[in-house]
Amino acid sequence: MTFKQLGIIDPILKALSEEGYEFPTPIQQQALPLLLQGKDLLGCAQTGTGKTAAFAIPILQHLYNNPQVQSGKRNLRALIVAPTRELAIQIADSFTAYGKYTGLTNTVIFGGVKQGSQTDKLQRGVDILVATPGRLLDLMGQGFIRLDKVEFSVLDEADHMLDMGFIHDIRKLIAKLPPKRQSLFFSATMPKEIVELAGSMLGNPERITIEPKQTTAERVTQGLYFVEKKDKTALLAHLLKTSEFETALIFSRTKHGADKIVRYLAKKSIKAEAIHGNKSQNARQRVLKEFKEGTMRVLVATDIAARGIDVDDLSLVINFDLPNVPETYVHRIGRTGRAKASGASISFCASDERPLLKDIEKLIGQSVPKLQNPVAIEEDPDFEPDRAPLNRSRGSSGSFSPKPKQRTGKPAGSFAKSVFKPRTPKNNR
Ligand code: AMP
Repeated sequence: MTFKQLGIIDPILKALSEEGYEFPTPIQQQALPLLLQGKDLLGCAQTGTGKTAAFAIPILQHLYNNPQVQSGKRNLRALIVAPTRELAIQIADSFTAYGKYTGLTNTVIFGGVKQGSQTDKLQRGVDILVATPGRLLDLMGQGFIRLDKVEFSVLDEADHMLDMGFIHDIRKLIAKLPPKRQSLFFSATMPKEIVELAGSMLGNPERITIEPKQTTAERVTQGLYFVEKKDKTALLAHLLKTSEFETALIFSRTKHGADKIVRYLAKKSIKAEAIHGNKSQNARQRVLKEFKEGTMRVLVATDIAARGIDVDDLSLVINFDLPNVPETYVHRIGRTGRAKASGASISFCASDERPLLKDIEKLIGQSVPKLQNPVAIEEDPDFEPDRAPLNRSRGSSGSFSPKPKQRTGKPAGSFAKSVFKPRTPKNNR
């Protein structure tokens, strides 16, 4: 779905492309067609979802396609009310950016500053006004603002208006809006007062709800074992034998390491295959087919080989070795829990990998929950250290936004619990 396919006009398309918007966000995909048809809208959505463009684009498009009839001073045709000065400024900036090639004008008014420059702009005439409630009512009272030509009214972050004590101002304002208009109402939450307020502003609205997108790191239940290199294979075998999962993808740093893991697992009667660049195309295809069909449930791969694995609903990812590039961790764990409600990832961290863990935790903005090592792990008698260099690298894929706050991982879901909690031996597969 593109903005063009949604029927957005060229002057706006050009501005959106200059803003770097390639595709509409989910709220835009839902809201744009409804708003372009002239419907009222009740949107349950937070800032950060692309909400501003979802209402600004159709308003600009309508005003552009239906120019004001009488010449002279511009009439105020769209009014957007926001609870804070910062949000109001941000919304006005968005109208300026998206409306750059439409010739439409906007201005922003808010309290706490002298009104002179704001009233000067209003007196010159403006198509779109973004305002905070107090200053809006004040300037209306002084006769600087007339609402009789308003065709669009938008109330943004209505629940914040309520929290900030603006509800009476908003009621007064709604009473002054002309009856024939298109109304949009956005709120991240919908308590009773907000539902009532929306009812008084909107006539039979369309409703859309957009949940804030969870980041991969939030979506996937993560766990980590501090384990020495020589104990990793034994821990892996133990986990594969005692956990419930459908398909597990195990990441090894090297091809040689991947083969060694498979050999060890075979000794422990766990059927697994390795997939990496040294395997023939035929061998890879056979392995992938078995993995997809579920006849072979454990696949050991290097990062490069894993790119070709088109299996969306892995239930478990195990980072046998931590990746050198922290973004790779996000890509790896992002392979679980896509189709399912939850996925799980378990990482092994040897002492020389601790700096890599630090980089990963910094990137994802949370600490990976540490798991208690199962006691009886028998060592691999054939263990020989992997000689591949462990280069710490701060590469960037640019596709993951770090979270600013330090947080702990989400609680395990029912599936993840079964992965992290060893089952009784009689249930072993
Ligand atoms: P908002 O929810 O309106 O505050 O938007 C959140 C952020 O997403 C802003 O920085 C917008 O510039 C950006 N944004 C909105 N729509 C798109 C889009 N279709 N593609 C890329 N970025 C977008």
